[in-house]
Amino acid sequence: MEMQRRPFIRTTLGASLVPLAARAAETTTPGKLGWALVGLGSLSTNQIAPALQMTTRSKLAAVVTGTPGKGVKWREKYGLPAEKIYNYENFDTIANDPDVDVVYIVLPNSMHREFVIRAAKAGKHVFCEKPMANTPDECREMIAACAAAKRRLGIGYRCQFEAHHLEAVRFAREKVFGDLQHIDAGFGFAIGDPTQWRLRKKLAGGGALMDVGVYALQACRYLSGEEPVEVSAIETKTDPVKFAEVDETINWLMRFPSGLTAKCLTTYRFSGCEGFTAYGSKGRFGMQPAFGYGNFKGWTSNPEIPLAFPHVDHFLAEMDEFSRAIIEDKPFVADGTEGLRDMLVLDAVYRSVASGKKESVGKV
Ligand code: NAD
Repeated sequence: MEMQRRPFIRTTLGASLVPLAARAAETTTPGKLGWALVGLGSLSTNQIAPALQMTTRSKLAAVVTGTPGKGVKWREKYGLPAEKIYNYENFDTIANDPDVDVVYIVLPNSMHREFVIRAAKAGKHVFCEKPMANTPDECREMIAACAAAKRRLGIGYRCQFEAHHLEAVRFAREKVFGDLQHIDAGFGFAIGDPTQWRLRKKLAGGGALMDVGVYALQACRYLSGEEPVEVSAIETKTDPVKFAEVDETINWLMRFPSGLTAKCLTTYRFSGCEGFTAYGSKGRFGMQPAFGYGNFKGWTSNPEIPLAFPHVDHFLAEMDEFSRAIIEDKPFVADGTEGLRDMLVLDAVYRSVASGKKESVGKV
């Protein structure tokens, strides 16, 4: 069956052949875009801000926090002037800040929708952490708000800019191991603190599936280059108290139009499940680990075809690619529609858990 390949595949495949650092240096457009981080939690502190010290197209221009003490620390650490520390109430005045081009939403999932829409209304491009939102309709609202403001919307799908993943996509697209038949993917970890927002449905929207299952789903979608049409899922809960509000472990199957199938796992119960295996008609390839911040290990069934690359900071790569897309007015592969497509599948998985039946994936 002749498949319609999504724009992501075309754009990233060509781009993947040139190392990211070299691609950044290639451009003749001067300057860096100013990024404002909304939410100064673990990801902003430990990954995003350090990456912004190394980026070539992006720089830290402002922060938005509900905790004044954090603002002081960030001012001291990153030399930000006092007027570049916003809070959630005065955030909308960022519209008048010419140093901020992009607003990066790094808040609990249920707050993504509100802040993406406010950032777009403030006339800023928006980069939003995964999962994009809690429901497909929220994603649609966010896409519409950015379109109405004529601003770009990117989603934090960092693996789409990582060399192992891009090479794996090339294997699939160029049929290096034949036609893909099946993908096995999973991501989970043993979650700690029972009081954290990730275990509150109101803030997280869901559990392991929303948080890390989305990486396994992403891999299945970009490796196959197809959209799943039908899913079948079961949920297992061994600790109904800790996981009273959100999913603990979900296994799900997906059927794609070409006949390709995928089997996925996500969990908050145990660590170590973090990878994928892609089965082609002439061989296999995969990665384990595949979705964390680094130390990726790729493998193939052919010792002469390696899947191994040096580590590159994922956040540096995704932010500079988003800045580059804005500066050069080029497509950005991990856009709002990409986030919506994932949310449509996650929605079908939850419906299948609830109904105990196969469920169709909704349309964009
Ligand atoms: P975190 O708990 O460390 O930080 C959340 C921030 O939001 C904190 O600064 C907190 O003060 C603020 N906040 C505002 N209102 C809040 C409320 N009502 N409850 C709780 N916190 C509130 O979380 P994090 O790990 O930084 O995750 C933030 C976002 O980034 C999430 O959407 C998550 O899915 C995403 N994330 C992505 C990756 C990735 O690899 N791309 C990794 C981790 C987290």
